[in-house]
Amino acid sequence: MGLCYCRDCQHSTGTSHAPVIAVLSETLDFTGTVRWYDGQSACGNKVQRGFCVECGTPLIGRLEKNPGANAILAGTLDNPSLFQPAFAMWTASAPSWVTIDHNLPSFQEQPPETGAMYDSIRR
Ligand SMILES: [Zn+2]
Repeated sequence: MGLCYCRDCQHSTGTSHAPVIAVLSETLDFTGTVRWYDGQSACGNKVQRGFCVECGTPLIGRLEKNPGANAILAGTLDNPSLFQPAFAMWTASAPSWVTIDHNLPSFQEQPPETGAMYDSIRR
């Protein structure tokens, strides 16, 4: 789980970053209806973003290149304090008014090991 400061996450959340938790599809269960929108990630990959049809809350993202992996937005958890960021990425895109926690491993763009966030949940 980590913090993503890419412009795509800024646009889709309306704030400085997205706190994301990687979850495999087979361990994920939804109640209610999610509306999906296609877009493009900061790396130029196809991304699907899921929003609650009832209230428009951004819930989840999926990258086409990482099938079966989902990025859940931590603010939507029943207990968002369960989220403990392990890294920050795309910090070069962070707006000037945000403070980045430099105690976390930080990457100016995508972490060198592409898909590291998803790879960690497959081990
Ligand atoms: Zn992002």
